[in-house]
Amino acid sequence: MTRSFWQHRSRPPALTCDVAIVGAGIAGASAAFWLRKARPDWTVALLDAVEPGYGASGRNAGFLLQGIATDYVTDIARYGRATAQQLWHFTLENRELLEKELDPTAFNLQRTGSLIVAGTAAEDERLQRSVAPLRADGVPVAYLPPQEVSSRAQAGGLFGALNVPSGATCDPLKLVRHIIAQSKATVCPHHRVIDLMPQNGSVHLITPHRTVAAGQVLVTTNAAPVPGLVRPQGAIRPVRAQMLATVPLASRVLSCPVYSHEGNYYLRQLSGGEVLVGGARHQHAAAEVGFADETTPPVQEALEAYLHRHFPWAAGVRVQRRWSGTMGFTADRLPIIGSVPDAPGSYWAGGFHGHGMGLAFRFGRLLAALMASDDRPDGASLFRADRPALTAASATVTESAPRS
Ligand SMILES: Cc1cc2nc3c(=O)[nH]c(=O)nc-3n(C[C@H](O)[C@H](O)[C@H](O)COP(=O)(O)OP(=O)(O)OC[C@H]3O[C@@H](n4cnc5c(N)ncnc54)[C@H](O)[C@@H]3O)c2cc1C
Repeated sequence: MTRSFWQHRSRPPALTCDVAIVGAGIAGASAAFWLRKARPDWTVALLDAVEPGYGASGRNAGFLLQGIATDYVTDIARYGRATAQQLWHFTLENRELLEKELDPTAFNLQRTGSLIVAGTAAEDERLQRSVAPLRADGVPVAYLPPQEVSSRAQAGGLFGALNVPSGATCDPLKLVRHIIAQSKATVCPHHRVIDLMPQNGSVHLITPHRTVAAGQVLVTTNAAPVPGLVRPQGAIRPVRAQMLATVPLASRVLSCPVYSHEGNYYLRQLSGGEVLVGGARHQHAAAEVGFADETTPPVQEALEAYLHRHFPWAAGVRVQRRWSGTMGFTADRLPIIGSVPDAPGSYWAGGFHGHGMGLAFRFGRLLAALMASDDRPDGASLFRADRPALTAASATVTESAPRS
């Protein structure tokens, strides 16, 4: 790519700010919001390679679920009881903060509750065993037997479900834009960072437009590498998710979001009648990696097959849109916060493992607290880059630095 004399001469002047956030998805937007609250006098620039919400945050299903995995028994086995409880509480706080700090009508937040539906007898049994510990840990769930699931979701061939009253939905792109508007950050679209250089106590970011000099930097580009940034190779892996949207249905068939088959399928109906369906990547896991922004017939066919297998109302309903997005997966399914070497107070963060809407607003408060003070805020240790579950990951590398 070349740039003309005229384009070069008319480039905007270099930008100087207290904090530069690289990546304007839900994570970067949320951090900008909380930085504004913590340090109203700081100048914050929010840079994106394309525009706010261009990545996964503007392409997801808009589920604001409580919890991380599909059932609590699995969470307890994976993380231990105390951490599982902390994570479920963290996601509840996320939704509560969205309601308290923002205008929920601006992004159509709906307190619908949600259903975690079993696709197998084994999953059904785990959901039933999750009820007692969840209730004991303050989450008032109820188990619904298969016949009740069938009548609530107008479905067939499904097992039982957990009804989680705290589940909610939103318009995810409107949410990102609303958070950014409240943050008062300087938004810089079309600012792809092509080099990141810590220099004498500040960080220089190079973009094709101009350079940005910041006292501190936060990189929230999800799985996308940023040249010059040192982070463990493969810490956040790019994994593709695909979805489709039907034309509007004349009647209401789903009253709340449904998350089924261990989270491998998910669907909701919008107030306009359209049904959104996503998932099926588990059937084609080897192909569904990387950054290619495209849908594939095998996954799209699997989504439609799922819909027709379990939901009779889907017969003959036309699909109006299909799309994909890149999620950031981590080794233990939890997001990561790492330090930028040689840049005190600078961090990289992300890897929500397909649950960023349920986590990131609360997570942004954590990031802002880390950047605005030297204290280790509550909860930060859970997401440390050097936690034991991640140390098996590969060597630390500089991400495809262009400097030569
Ligand atoms: C199809 C799909 C459905 C999903 N459904 C749900 C759901 O219902 N509920 C839920 O909780 N989660 C869901 N998720 C996951 C959720 O969308 C993500 O966890 C979340 O959006 C991640 O946010 P982020 O800010 O970390 O990353 P992103 O939203 O991906 O933002 C990263 C940003 O960085 C920018 N960027 C990249 N490289 C550079 C660079 N070099 N310089 C500058 N900018 C750069 C990108 O343009 C992008 O805007 C879904 C994901 C997908 C793909």
